[in-house]
Amino acid sequence: MNSHPFITKALEERNHTNQFRNIVESSIDGVYIQRNGNRLINFSSNDYLGLASNPDVALASKKFIDRFGNGSAASRLITGTGEYHIELEKKLASALGTEASLIFNSGYQANTTVIPALAGRNSLVLSDKLNHNSLLQGANLSLGKLQRYRHNDPGHLKTLLKRAEGHYERILIVTESVFSMDGDVADLAVISSLAKSYGAMLMVDEAHAIGVLGENGMGLCVRKYNADIILGTFGKAFGSFGAFVACSQAMRDYLINFCGGFIYTTALPPSIIGAATKSLELVAGMDGERLTLAQNADYLRKRLRDSGYDTLKSGTQIIPVIIGDEEKTVSLSKYLADQGIFAVAIRPPTVKQNSSRIRITLSSMHTKEHIDQLMTALIAWNDRS
Ligand SMILES: *Cc1c(COP(=O)(O)O)cnc(C)c1O
Repeated sequence: MNSHPFITKALEERNHTNQFRNIVESSIDGVYIQRNGNRLINFSSNDYLGLASNPDVALASKKFIDRFGNGSAASRLITGTGEYHIELEKKLASALGTEASLIFNSGYQANTTVIPALAGRNSLVLSDKLNHNSLLQGANLSLGKLQRYRHNDPGHLKTLLKRAEGHYERILIVTESVFSMDGDVADLAVISSLAKSYGAMLMVDEAHAIGVLGENGMGLCVRKYNADIILGTFGKAFGSFGAFVACSQAMRDYLINFCGGFIYTTALPPSIIGAATKSLELVAGMDGERLTLAQNADYLRKRLRDSGYDTLKSGTQIIPVIIGDEEKTVSLSKYLADQGIFAVAIRPPTVKQNSSRIRITLSSMHTKEHIDQLMTALIAWNDRS
């Protein structure tokens, strides 16, 4: 095979800095994960409500295959739109209180293509510094100019908006509602009022809020904040795969006409839409699970704080346990695995230097005993080192 020097060099560099990433086979079994022959409590899943293993969701998926077949066989604009897509889009819009919604194949695909569709030449994209990679990529792919404001700092956002006045045709503000690495919540009230006063568009990525927070668990933007684009995914709390945008009817028409990531791709198949349709139905009735999840998070944060761990401004089911040093963080993650706990180490370049962390994501399936087991291990590790 050909060897390309740039590939060898890049990989060697990664190896050298101990940042070589690889994929490891796992099998998921509710709140547990099987890896390398071990069964561990999983604290790194986005299956916040346990829907990834819900039998009703699985059954709905099977029924949709029986009724509509395996594949959608074309893109949405050719012949790939089934009644099941349209039905789900109507239900999503109604659940989010928007005029319309539009399904995308993944959150990554939506973010990398919706932003370029909205921000053309002479546009400015103002993006929170901690926004997900897909949002950053979307801004970079657009013909607009990108400026990143300090994390969850509406004051800095305002400064940039003031400076931009009169210089751009369009301004798009992009933020997550629940931030995926820090687990804190964006100040959407202030951000949306800034968007309004400066005539900017607002896009809110609710990947970690959908299913978990807000009215009927449909996110923080339900009937609030007037965002132009609300992005939700089916891969996290919904337990399957895919994504959607909730928006106005005009925005939906615009994306159908101008968003490459919607136009030039095969429509999601019936099995996936069946699962998402069932999850949407179930999520509305899962206040009990949401309460358990919130209580789990409060309990873990309190115990972490009592043991001297920094959890930044986490207020959600995502809880960073800040260690700082990269090597120490990796060795803690390995130690936890030895104690029957799976919790990934997150390091630069994913997060800032010296903010390496164990990133805990909780589920409503976790029990107090699971969390206590995690804390016992974290405390023992602290005493050792
Ligand atoms: C997971 C995630 C995405 C990507 O969604 P997929 O459907 O998994 O591609 C986008 N934005 C945020 C904030 C995410 O956490």
